[in-house]
Amino acid sequence: MHELSLVQGMMGQLMDLAARNSANRIVRVVVEVGPFSGVVVDSFIFAFDALKSEHRITKNSVLEIETPVPVMECPECGFSCEIKHHEQDEQELSPFSALGFWGARTCPHCKDVTMITKGGDELLLKQVEME
Ligand SMILES: [Zn+2]
Repeated sequence: MHELSLVQGMMGQLMDLAARNSANRIVRVVVEVGPFSGVVVDSFIFAFDALKSEHRITKNSVLEIETPVPVMECPECGFSCEIKHHEQDEQELSPFSALGFWGARTCPHCKDVTMITKGGDELLLKQVEME
């Protein structure tokens, strides 16, 4: 479960931030998790809840997860489009099989040019509210 080590790393960042801002506690943490980041959001939340009680500063922190919409871009003409789940006809696919599905997509303008995914693999500490 690599989410646990990711959250551990994030806790370290949060402690640093709190210390630098002389904050007593962290109220809210917003993390951006791309659908292709390989992070299982449920495990991430679980790990956060498990680890936050170990620190006075994060004891009552609320974690919010944002998932950005990834984009596919053509390396030839720069045409880009969002990868949206509802554009898929098939029944709900996991992000990974979705990547495989879209990964083989060719540009509608330049025939035979395969578009590449841009973004979607980020794991970012986006916003931290402290007091
Ligand atoms: Zn193109």
